[in-house]
Amino acid sequence: ASETDAPTQKHRVTAKGIDVPPAAATFDALKKRYDVPSLLLSNLSKHGFKHPTGIQSHGIPILLETRDLAAISPTGTGKTLSYLLPIMAALGSSASGVRAVIVAPTRELAHQIHNECLKLAEGRKWRIVLFSKATASTLADRAVRDKVDIIISTPLRLVSSLQAGDLELKNVRHLILDEADRMLDPEFLPQVEEVIASCTHPDVQKAVFSATLPAGAEKIAMDMLRNPIRIVVGLKDT
Ligand code: ADP
Ligand code: MG
Repeated sequence: ASETDAPTQKHRVTAKGIDVPPAAATFDALKKRYDVPSLLLSNLSKHGFKHPTGIQSHGIPILLETRDLAAISPTGTGKTLSYLLPIMAALGSSASGVRAVIVAPTRELAHQIHNECLKLAEGRKWRIVLFSKATASTLADRAVRDKVDIIISTPLRLVSSLQAGDLELKNVRHLILDEADRMLDPEFLPQVEEVIASCTHPDVQKAVFSATLPAGAEKIAMDMLRNPIRIVVGLKDT
């Protein structure tokens, strides 16, 4: 997308919650404030990401401060990077098993997220897995599984590996539900709840991202999150 697609100025942003961290107007400000690794920032500029979008300015500091987040921002406003950058800034290099899980409702969306992930991770040796039947079966081998850093998956695929005992999520520190309006509807909710229950680390950070969040789904989301901040970009309530 071109730079003019970045909707930073066009959209109204509201943030609600306790101790909301201030927005970052530039990617450079994130580096100064949070010591985001230079490699990540140079990967951004290499791929033409010059200025953060509204959801990125507001959402990235919140996630970097390890807060839970419900983020509502229209399609095309760069929600993916809003969670990928904080995950990768926190990831480090120690191989201690899967530390981030991103759940999306379809294979196609998971695939797009994976592509965005690979751009930002250039130059790092993280193992980022787009979960499929084939990759899931290779992860049944613990030695392979322990080297994986990030998994991107549909909920059903995760649940079948969890139920087979082929996947552990106890070291996960970042759990993201993308397209959360669909993830929290009755079709997916039981699987999503099972994934959440498997992320047993006490410090797991949870965030939901969506273009829209109907009242029912929003209530479920807020109950899942701990001391959450809620950000709305655009004119959700009109
Ligand atoms: P959403 O999930 O909100 O629908 P995406 O994360 O898919 O949006 O991003 C939409 C497009 O905008 C993608 O092509 C992405 O690479 C691009 N993009 C994201 N952030 C920026 C940015 N800060 N500057 C320029 N382009 C961006
Ligand atoms: Mg998206």
